[in-house]
Amino acid sequence: MSKHSDAGSKKFLDREKKEKEYKKQLPGEDDPPLPEPVEPIKSEKTPGRNDPCSCGSGKKYKQCCGKGK
Ligand SMILES: [Zn+2]
Repeated sequence: MSKHSDAGSKKFLDREKKEKEYKKQLPGEDDPPLPEPVEPIKSEKTPGRNDPCSCGSGKKYKQCCGKGK
């Protein structure tokens, strides 16, 4: 019996144990996919000075709510 062989087998077992723990941390195939990012909707938009006014009057913005600004 030699003490050297015992030390060698113990080292091998330690390595095998570490590899098993590492595989446990890998993500599984059952992980749900990440949700797609949703772009924020800009509800309020300032019309251009020559665009129809957003108040619905039919006039140009510069001749309606944008007058005097
Ligand atoms: Zn207006």
